[in-house]
Parts: sequence; structure tokens; C-alpha cells
Amino acid sequence: MEEIKLDIKKLVSRVSSGETGDFISFDPQNCNGCGKCADVCSFGLWSVKDGKAKLSKRYKELCLECAACWEICAREAIDFSYPAGGTGVVIKYG
Ligand code: SF4
Ligand code: SF4
Repeated sequence: MEEIKLDIKKLVSRVSSGETGDFISFDPQNCNGCGKCADVCSFGLWSVKDGKAKLSKRYKELCLECAACWEICAREAIDFSYPAGGTGVVIKYG
């Protein structure tokens, strides 16, 4: 089967003005290092090191706001809320 590659960066853009705030939070005490958050993040913003997930420091500028990491985490180690109004991702098409 042919591999399909989408360049998500062409489909979304970020509003450059305004402070998003911390719209993803992580509680390491609840994390068991399963790595599912890293598996589902299309921008590769999660990794697992020493048995705990780690979110990229650049997530505020790169995150797609899909909330997949929050949805997949069965341990409630990740909390997600949309960035402050007027900031964050804009979907260009679709
Ligand atoms: S999905 Fe949740 S429990 Fe699993 S590594 Fe990510 S944060 Fe930790
Ligand atoms: S909300 Fe989506 S793009 Fe952002 S860190 Fe979670 S899985 Fe990755």
C-alpha cells in the first residue's frame, strides 16, 4: 500500500500575537511511561525518557491542538484545554 504523507504545517497556521498560556499540563506522578502520547502526536512533541513522558518545550509554537495526547492517556497524566481566545492554531482549509 502506498504511504500517504500530509504536511500539516501547510494546513494550519498559528496566530502570532497573544500569549496562549499553558494549555497542556502534565502530571508525572500519574505517568507510567507507556508512550502512547508519543505514538499519537503527529508533531512528535512527546517523548519518553527514564520511564516518564516529556513534552517539548516548544509545544506552544508547534502543537496542533488536536488533544490526541490527552484523549489517549488512560492515566490522566495529561490535561488539555484550548489556548486563550484569539491565540493558537487556525485551520486554513477544510
Ligand atoms: S500516555 Fe499518559 S501514561 Fe502514557 S507515557 Fe503518555 S503521559 Fe505517560
Ligand atoms: S494536542 Fe495533539 S499536537 Fe498537541 S501535543 Fe497533544 S497530540 Fe501533539
